Amino acid sequence: MKKLFGFLALFAACLGISPALFAAELPSQVAIIGYHRFENPAKDPLAITPEHFRKQMQEIKDAGIPVISMDDFLAWRKGEKTLPEKSVIITIDDGYNCTYNHAWPILKEFGYPFTFYVYSGYIGTGGRAVTWDQLAQLRDAGVDIGGHSVSHDNLIKPRRVKPNDYDGWLANEFSGIKDLLKEKLGIEAKTFAYPYGIQNEKVRQAGTAAGYQALFTVSGKKVTKDTAAAEIGRYVVQSDKPQTFSAALHFGASQMTPGSKPAGASTQSSGPSLEVTPTHGSTVADDRPEISLNLSGIPDIDPKSIEMRISGIGQVPATFDPVSSVVSYRPTQRLHAQKITVQVKAKSGKQRADTAWEFFRDPSASSMAEMMMEPPKETKPAKSSPGA
Ligand SMILES: [Zn+2]
Repeated sequence: MKKLFGFLALFAACLGISPALFAAELPSQVAIIGYHRFENPAKDPLAITPEHFRKQMQEIKDAGIPVISMDDFLAWRKGEKTLPEKSVIITIDDGYNCTYNHAWPILKEFGYPFTFYVYSGYIGTGGRAVTWDQLAQLRDAGVDIGGHSVSHDNLIKPRRVKPNDYDGWLANEFSGIKDLLKEKLGIEAKTFAYPYGIQNEKVRQAGTAAGYQALFTVSGKKVTKDTAAAEIGRYVVQSDKPQTFSAALHFGASQMTPGSKPAGASTQSSGPSLEVTPTHGSTVADDRPEISLNLSGIPDIDPKSIEMRISGIGQVPATFDPVSSVVSYRPTQRLHAQKITVQVKAKSGKQRADTAWEFFRDPSASSMAEMMMEPPKETKPAKSSPGA
């Protein structure tokens, strides 16, 4: 089984091409990182201490990965701008004043842009909530502010909405915060973060109809130019899951970060050199995540030879896009196992190209969702969190 993970060596051996070729042909990928609260001590997993946050910002810097603005990201998506092979976007959800008090000074120190996602029902409500004046200061300093709904309710199953009112309510969850930010701050919110990352086809359509150019989930995976605009994953940092931040900065073995092993030295621990989602070794909350492998670095792939197998399911009808050379599949059934292995076999000319990688389903995904469902509690700081 371990041998399956000798991806780079296998590909290089099968195809007789150097690993450097893969690196040269990798398309730009963006890792979007999501934060919530900054406090000392961190009272629950969605909070991290300011010192921990500073350390992570330093890690991004040490890895040589540029932090880009949402505007650059949107321009790249529209084909108006190119991006480096790898980059990071920083987002902070919910509208806590610790973003203003603790995170912003650190981000300024590093010169990092960020996007602040706020929702109508919380801004200016006192306690730990950001004020309109603070938001105006952030705006004036060039901080991007995006929509995070009106109520912060579950957009699929809201708690107090009658079925007949649902469509109108849903539309207003997207447009209400957009209109409010326009009215109070004179800004156009271009992007939206789904509360708790919860969305489905209907929700995605409503968000797109409201005019948002990109809508973000909490399912950590790298974003490419082809990632669907209404379903862009983010790595949500939790103080009890350091692997999420590491996964965000891991762009594959051919794109080494300082401290990791050089390509080819130990491909067993560094994962596949080809771009895959979910990324090798990453943890996802989604139990039906889009699973994909980009074969654009391998010449002359025979589309008919491609086979994808997922542990617990078996062979699946993956699709191959000849333009992007991406093999992809979204499970129709929920993945129950904590560890999922994906195998892809393909023929290139007369040679075989086999690869495999593994990722993890967050075993506490449902409890995390429940934790995130708690509304902000100003009087009882411990354990409360409105979440993503
Ligand atoms: Zn939230």
